[in-house]
Amino acid sequence: SSYHKVLEENRMLYNQVQDLKGTIRVYCRVRPFLQGQTNGQSSVDYIGENGNIMIVNPLKQGKDARKVFSFNKVFGPNVSQEQIYVDTQPLIRSVLDGFNVCIFAYGQTGSGKTYTMSGPDLTNEQTWGVNYRALCDLFQISKERADVVKYEVGVQMIEIYNEQVRDLLVMDGSNRRLDIRNNSQLNGLNVPDASWVPVSSTQDVLDWMRIGYKNRAVGATALNERSSRSHSVLTIHVYGKELVSGSILKGCLHLVDLAGSERVDKSEAVGDRLKEAQHINRSLSALGDVISALAQKSAHIPYRNSKLTQVLQDSLGGQAKTLMFVHISPEVNAIGETVSTLKFAERVASIELGAARSNK
Ligand code: ADP
Repeated sequence: SSYHKVLEENRMLYNQVQDLKGTIRVYCRVRPFLQGQTNGQSSVDYIGENGNIMIVNPLKQGKDARKVFSFNKVFGPNVSQEQIYVDTQPLIRSVLDGFNVCIFAYGQTGSGKTYTMSGPDLTNEQTWGVNYRALCDLFQISKERADVVKYEVGVQMIEIYNEQVRDLLVMDGSNRRLDIRNNSQLNGLNVPDASWVPVSSTQDVLDWMRIGYKNRAVGATALNERSSRSHSVLTIHVYGKELVSGSILKGCLHLVDLAGSERVDKSEAVGDRLKEAQHINRSLSALGDVISALAQKSAHIPYRNSKLTQVLQDSLGGQAKTLMFVHISPEVNAIGETVSTLKFAERVASIELGAARSNK
């Protein structure tokens, strides 16, 4: 019967995701040279099958010129959006089984974070990023399970700019609040005043996301500027009731496009720019601290050190699963940022990776 089929599927899925629980996976993605860029020398010397990447600095000599970093996976410049999603899918599916999942995009501005999460062109399905593919999957699976589990899905979309949370699902930038339904049954709501909207199809979510992106632009002098200096968090809450047993499955998925990680030259940045840079640095290092404290199973996890980690608290650690995509550009002139991005990522990944390797 379909009930048993679903149970069996669940069991398989459960085994598949069991080893991901409470751990952080780190995937590195190298973007291609962009059109119009002189296809010069690349700072990426070599990408191994085993999750290794070698960076080469042409300005250095000898053994200092090359450095190897290790992650769970490394995706080269020709890897398609679809392939990226294949390696993300098991996490997405587990949300419907009641897990909390956080997926981050990290990297300097222009390294491909938005490309991975949203994709460059909403009208072209082939280029869709992780978030649209995830939504399609969630609705598809919940439909397949319809005679076994009844799911309700809600979305929330916020931006964190200078440690302030902004609700992006207010109507057309008019600041009029949406009707917020009783949301006590939903998980991961650390931003109780932000609107959440019930959705029942991928199209619904796409419509809301368009509103969200439009609202994100309101008040920004230049859209790109602002969006590279704020974190955006799209949250999908899932509430499922098993029809036979009556048991409840609550899960949530956070899709986080982080602010650009580039360091700002202290002598150049003044005023607002300096303030933004300080907030970004603080929140990204708070995120790194939380993740490494979790990996080390510290007694104290410093969630309260930034808005970002407060918002995501219920979905980092414990039974939650975390995936970080770290992005790098291949240009030699970005090598300073590339190396610091990879160092950050290695700090985030190191401990669990060590454990994962010894289990192989
Ligand atoms: P970020 O969000 O990190 O600032 P973007 O996602 O906006 O960076 O990417 C910068 C530019 O590079 C965009 O024009 C984007 O379309 C392009 N780009 C990024 N990653 C890829 C990729 N994997 N394949 C092709 N183009 C890419």
